[in-house]
Amino acid sequence: MDIRNCSRCNQLFVYQGRGICAACQAEEEHEFDKCRDFLEKQPQASLEEVSQATGVPVNRILAFLRDGRLISKDPAMGGLRCQVCGAPVTSGRFCPACADKLRTGIERGIQQNEKGKNAMHTWGNRKDKEEPPG
Ligand SMILES: [Zn+2]
Ligand SMILES: [Zn+2]
Repeated sequence: MDIRNCSRCNQLFVYQGRGICAACQAEEEHEFDKCRDFLEKQPQASLEEVSQATGVPVNRILAFLRDGRLISKDPAMGGLRCQVCGAPVTSGRFCPACADKLRTGIERGIQQNEKGKNAMHTWGNRKDKEEPPG
């Protein structure tokens, strides 16, 4: 058994993948619900307004936003930026455009790798009717 100190209340607890104890997890869920409810009613509220209305510390609201759990209509709220182009994002690490580019970029990267390995065969091997690019 992995016994640790809860990073929130400092009590000993059985570690189960998260650094906080069950009581604090429940508390955090409760805080998350309050923030989400408030943002549903007032989507344009600032971070401070949410914090004041819910009593949840700003840091924790930011953590919810960074985790992509809480989504604000105001991209500037969490101060989150796309890690590629720097555009404000409401949730997560990339803006939708960059997330898309990354995805296709990764796919293309894989295709190019395969081409490099067996240059002649890549398209000839394909059984579907897709046209080669270009
Ligand atoms: Zn705790
Ligand atoms: Zn971006």
